[in-house]
Amino acid sequence: MVELAPQAPVHGEGQSQGNKALLAQPSLTQSYAGDTYNTAVYIARGGVSVSYVTLLGDDPYSEEVLTRLSGEGIDTGAIARLPGRCPGLYMIQNTPDGERYFTYWRGEAPARELFADPVRREALKAHLLQMDCLYLSGITLAIMGEEARVELLAFLAEYRAQGGRVAFDSNYRPRLWASADAAREAVGQFLQQADMALLTFEDEQALWGDKRPGSCVKRNTGFGVSELVIKRGAEPVLLQVDGELTAIDVPPVSSVVDTTGAGDSFNAGYLAARLQGASPEQSIAAGNRCAARVIGHRGAIIPRDDYLAVEKN
Ligand code: ADP
Repeated sequence: MVELAPQAPVHGEGQSQGNKALLAQPSLTQSYAGDTYNTAVYIARGGVSVSYVTLLGDDPYSEEVLTRLSGEGIDTGAIARLPGRCPGLYMIQNTPDGERYFTYWRGEAPARELFADPVRREALKAHLLQMDCLYLSGITLAIMGEEARVELLAFLAEYRAQGGRVAFDSNYRPRLWASADAAREAVGQFLQQADMALLTFEDEQALWGDKRPGSCVKRNTGFGVSELVIKRGAEPVLLQVDGELTAIDVPPVSSVVDTTGAGDSFNAGYLAARLQGASPEQSIAAGNRCAARVIGHRGAIIPRDDYLAVEKN
């Protein structure tokens, strides 16, 4: 998506707030970000080859998304372009109480048509079957059409039967769903096709009403998730692998500048490590390291050189 953000530093959590007074924003910076986009960028920076799948338009902003992905070494060959369309847009604004307010314009976003067209879908399936691992987000499920979602779910079963692994983050955003029931039904179905679930406890609480992490663990065990990661901000990350539950501390981050993209970058650090043979425990540490770098900077995507400089130290 195209991102418009205030130039002044932003603090606090990155959720849409209720109707709040907004501060006037005289200057905005324009960038590109989005949940799966952020994760794709940081997985690639972690040294794993990535192919990003979405739909874009034929406008200059879509062109720039492709240029940026390619600049990160990400394969864009499976991204379809829809004539006359342009990407979704969101704007971050500061509220007088120091929080951030997110407004989205994504009704016309071409990404909503993922898996919808039968011809494009078959070509995409052939492409995806070549991958070792697919990463999906609940935001993608929320914006795609219901028929397409059913097709994608069926494809995941086929993909896993052929040895592919699926990683999933529920990323629950209530405004994107017709109802919480609809979200629970779809998310539950996809969790049943997830080998790795990388969930944020806050989202799970909002979606399922969990009072404690234990109920989240129990539900996902019931869905058959064999590798479960539950992120809880600065609180220890919970990891359950084949029924064994552990809590892994999150190293303190001295200056948290902006938590946008924390969960997405954690997922990237985790998956990049896991796909290169690290254990789940080692991969949690890698997820924490990746997220720590991102929340120490403003914006979801920190400049590549700054990011890689930390790696070298
Ligand atoms: P989301 O961005 O999905 O809301 P969380 O807030 O749970 O996700 O954060 C994801 C990860 O980011 C955490 O597991 C941790 O690694 C890191 N993180 C987030 N907030 C902090 C913090 N205050 N201090 C240190 N690490 C943090």
